[in-house]
Amino acid sequence: MGTARIFNFSAGPSMLPEEVLNQASAEMSNYRGSGMSVMEMSHRSDIYARLFESVQTSFRRVMNIPNNYKVLFLQGGATLQFAMVPMNLITKTGSADYAVTGSFSGKAAEEAKKYGTVNTAASSKDKNHTYIPRQSELKLDPNASYFHYCANNTIYGTEWDYVPETGDVPLVCDMSSNILSKPVDVSKYGLIYAGAQKNMAPAGLTVVIIRNDLAGNAFPYTPVMMDYATMIKNDSMYNTPPCYNIYILGLVLDWVEKLGGLKAMQKRNQDKAAMLYECLDASPLFNVVPEKGSRSNMNVTFRSDDPEIDAIFAAKAAEAGFASLKGHRSVGGMRASIYNAMPPEGVAALVEFIHVFEQNYRK
Ligand SMILES: *Cc1c(COP(=O)(O)O)cnc(C)c1O
Repeated sequence: MGTARIFNFSAGPSMLPEEVLNQASAEMSNYRGSGMSVMEMSHRSDIYARLFESVQTSFRRVMNIPNNYKVLFLQGGATLQFAMVPMNLITKTGSADYAVTGSFSGKAAEEAKKYGTVNTAASSKDKNHTYIPRQSELKLDPNASYFHYCANNTIYGTEWDYVPETGDVPLVCDMSSNILSKPVDVSKYGLIYAGAQKNMAPAGLTVVIIRNDLAGNAFPYTPVMMDYATMIKNDSMYNTPPCYNIYILGLVLDWVEKLGGLKAMQKRNQDKAAMLYECLDASPLFNVVPEKGSRSNMNVTFRSDDPEIDAIFAAKAAEAGFASLKGHRSVGGMRASIYNAMPPEGVAALVEFIHVFEQNYRK
């Protein structure tokens, strides 16, 4: 194994800021004079309660969350939310609107069908999810219990560049792969959820932001662990929460704030993505997969006309220290995931590598 850290373009679990890893490492066996690791603490202890509180406070401050919302630290990944959302929210009218713009939103819609009527309010399947439907194309049902969409499509490399307007129908959003990447007006949403392993913490923590009035309406058969009301009442500690991951989230939030908060993150992410898209748009060899205006600042998907060249590129890139650039099997080509923790230098180095590669493989 090498000794230096490499540029890791994995879609998730993905890079964490080196500062965060170093601090976690320094506190690993003795957290701030406690004589133990955060991993070893009772989640009911005073010291852990203070840590938990401070992470909640930082998260609310960074995301600018209004007082009428709760923040829950859960387990089960974003995927469990595909079921938890309808089990708690579809009871209102028995139906919900889903925008299907990729693999995860498709899975969310399929899961919801077990609990009620799902109206496909929009789908980008006709063009293999290479674009985000516009507001005017959304087929909205005013009687829907909620409207669900996925803000950033991790596999396809598209990102909603607007917040859908749905009138009185609450917006529910899967933000797993772009939470903390830019400011979000939380007051426009009924519920936001995100698995941690893209932009927040190691896998195993799921964050839910829920407007208070939306909890307490679960189907009677809903498992107690999957009822938002249970988790709100017990402050995410009905059972043992993912203690260590919550601690890492706290360190990541400190890092975000040190860099200037979500506005600064947005600028940093836009600059990184622009660097890569400019390179690819000018490339004689590679094409960006999604349409302009729908492209993600987090997951950049691209390919040549020849799958063999793509395979050679991904392999040579890995040898050169650019890990996990191979695209998802449903899209092919390459995917560079450039979440918050990817430094601008990593993207600049990749751009340089692409330029050199193009010289050798020009047709
Ligand atoms: C990764 C991802 C998921 C799945 O998350 P799990 O935590 O593995 O369940 C769902 N939605 C989006 C947008 C993702 O990026």
